[in-house]
Amino acid sequence: MCGAKCQGGTLVSADFDPVLIAALQSARRITVLTGAGVSAESGIPTFRDALTGLWQNFDAHTLATADAFLGDPSLVWGWYEWRRSQVLAAQPNAAHRALAELARRVPQLSLFTQNVDNLHERAGSVDVQHLHGSLHHPRCFDCAHPFVLPDGIPEEPAGGWRVPAPKCQACGGLVRPGVVWFDEYLPADILDGAFNSSRSSDLLIVVGCSGKVDPAARLPRDAKKAGRKVIQINLVESALDGVCTWNLRGRAGELLPELIRQAF
Ligand code: NAD
Ligand code: ZN
Repeated sequence: MCGAKCQGGTLVSADFDPVLIAALQSARRITVLTGAGVSAESGIPTFRDALTGLWQNFDAHTLATADAFLGDPSLVWGWYEWRRSQVLAAQPNAAHRALAELARRVPQLSLFTQNVDNLHERAGSVDVQHLHGSLHHPRCFDCAHPFVLPDGIPEEPAGGWRVPAPKCQACGGLVRPGVVWFDEYLPADILDGAFNSSRSSDLLIVVGCSGKVDPAARLPRDAKKAGRKVIQINLVESALDGVCTWNLRGRAGELLPELIRQAF
């Protein structure tokens, strides 16, 4: 069910299902799960958008692995430094701000994100749970000692974005990005927290997730099994459409503020 009137994938006017608005208004507890789509309007590309320019000959799914890093640390560290420079230069968008606002409107809201950009925090969300880590908290590959990045936005070195990975201050090992790679487990405590939270919430809101990457693929199914209502916001059809109670099609930066405007 699409509760909004859409044209060419973009919201033109909102006419949400009154049952959806009532569910938002009466919810005591809401869990939110966000994916790369929530940051797209800040100019941060999703992995499904082809890498462009400098990185057009690379595939994100082969760069974001431990094997890729160990095989060519400067290439992979450089790619993450380039991504860090992009997100630090970007600004949170209306979707990030609307979710921070929603947390102020409902008795309890728990926000879980698959994003590594920290744009939710910069929009004012507190206690954001990072399922896939953060670009801003690298650590040693060998001993996990945290590495403190220099302040400021990384600049492209004269030789391009092939950047040697720093050395760990504790053991001299290679410092790696603080993100969860495709061949790694998600942090178990945060993952359990996401399942427990969505099972015990009145509503789960899933924003900008293709539904092809766990836990976005499993969380809504699990919540539905527990009898919870699920709202999905995505530009296009997703693998989660059949699972969600409401599928709102359009830009997160338009739909989320409009939902809040109508509900509160
Ligand atoms: P994904 O599986 O979360 O898919 C992104 C989804 O967002 C797609 O279904 C797309 O239709 C939707 N979308 C795009 N623009 C939108 C908009 N304006 N409003 C609403 N929905 C929109 O993400 P992925 O790109 O395959 O990435 C896989 C993983 O890689 C992520 O879960 C994340 O850990 C990491 N990643 C993070 C960032 C970031 O931190 N900003 C960016 C790219 C990838
Ligand atoms: Zn170390």
